[in-house]
Amino acid sequence: MTRQFFVGGNFKLNPITLDAKSSLIDGLNNAQLDPSTEAVIAPPAIYLIPVKQTLRKDIKVAAQNAYFKESGAFTGEVSPKQLVDAGIPYVILGHSERRTLFHEDSALVATKTRAAIDAGLSVIFCIGETLSQREANETDKVCQEQLQAAVDILKEADWSKVVIAYEPVWAIGTGKVATSAQAQEAHADIRTFLGKAVSPAVAESTRIIYGGSVTASNCKELATQKDVDGFLVGGASLKPEFVDIINARK
Ligand code: PGA
Repeated sequence: MTRQFFVGGNFKLNPITLDAKSSLIDGLNNAQLDPSTEAVIAPPAIYLIPVKQTLRKDIKVAAQNAYFKESGAFTGEVSPKQLVDAGIPYVILGHSERRTLFHEDSALVATKTRAAIDAGLSVIFCIGETLSQREANETDKVCQEQLQAAVDILKEADWSKVVIAYEPVWAIGTGKVATSAQAQEAHADIRTFLGKAVSPAVAESTRIIYGGSVTASNCKELATQKDVDGFLVGGASLKPEFVDIINARK
């Protein structure tokens, strides 16, 4: 089966200008994009609705986070249902910055994933090892533990709503991109794990995208790898080169 290539832009907590003619959104709206790639951008929460209103319809919008409760006394949180009501189809969960800076553990990430899917969202589910874990040969173990929490809480059919983002922490925002061989090896191991832990069909159909210092100059080589089904892009998604990354397979 062919998995549709997926490229997400994670704007993180960075400013975006909506009205300027040279804005990021304007640049995307006027770009020639490979129609066979699923393109998604994740602006900060405050911009989700205006971005959705101004962005071309063939690029989807993702939230960078959501809580697992539908409503109530949870100051500062946004619920999956609110995202669905606002017409937002995707949410990023388990990003390493959420895991590290905001102390989200795998159980919480899995609970949020369950709630997001129940509300009707698709999830970009992030996993990945730190440098010391890689050096200790624990890449597989860490990725599997992070995934296992989701495996335990999702039904087989739910996986059609999940895109796995393999993002080695040592590569995020560092300029130290994984080699295409490193990415391919990790993605193949993740796919093998899914085959055993969920089902061969889910392993075959689930998109596994790579994140961590992806740029216009390294994306084409990474995109040749058979288990690399796209990218989650941070820094470079704020620049005109994001268009070239969306078009990596063109
Ligand atoms: P980066 O971030 O592309 O700036 O390394 C990737 C991410 O955090 O998703």
